[in-house]
Amino acid sequence: MRLLLIFLFMGLLSGCNQAQDSARGQNQTAKRVFINLAGDTVRPVIRTEEEWKQVLSPESYQVLRHSATECAFTGALYENHEKGVYLCGGCSLPLFSSGTKFESGTGWPSFFQPYRKDHIEELRDVSYGMVRIEVLCARCGGHLGHVFEDGPAPTGLRYCINSASLEFVPEEKEKRKNCFQRPKEVSMLASLFL
Ligand code: FE
Repeated sequence: MRLLLIFLFMGLLSGCNQAQDSARGQNQTAKRVFINLAGDTVRPVIRTEEEWKQVLSPESYQVLRHSATECAFTGALYENHEKGVYLCGGCSLPLFSSGTKFESGTGWPSFFQPYRKDHIEELRDVSYGMVRIEVLCARCGGHLGHVFEDGPAPTGLRYCINSASLEFVPEEKEKRKNCFQRPKEVSMLASLFL
C-alpha cells in the first residue's frame, strides 16, 4: 500500500513537471513577427562569429556581438535630431523611431519605446555587480544597450542604446526605400499619371 502511494505521488510530480516544461517550451517558441522598413515580414538572422566579423565594423562587432559599451558622448547618433528610423546595425530590423527619441543627458541615444515590441528582446543582466535589463535585437540577437524605468511619459522607460548598434535611415531616404521596394504599388499609382 505504501509503495502504491509513493508511485501515485511520483506520477503527480512528473505530470506537473511536464506541464511546466510544456509552458516553457511554448514561451521559447512563441513566434515573433519581424517587419522590415518596406513592411515585409522577414526571418531571424543567424550568422557565425566569422561572418559577423566580416559584415560589421570592429566597433559594432564588439558592441553587438560582445556587449561592449561605447564611451558616453562619443557615439555618432546621440545628438542626431533628424526624423527617421533607427535600424539594427546587424540585421537592419527597425528598432526605434526618431519620434520616441529624447534628450536624456546620458551621452547615449535614448528612446522611450521601441519601434515594435516584437523586435526587442529584454534579458536580466547581473554583470558588473548591478541588476539591469539588457536590450537585444530579437531578430539577430545583437546587444543594443539597457532599459531603465526612469524615462519620460508616456512609458516611463529609457532605452539607453549604443550608436554602434544602430543604423539611422533619414525620413526621406526611408520613403524612397519603401517606394522602390514595392514596384507593383508604384506602377499602379504611376499608371494613373503617366
Ligand atoms: Fe538585429
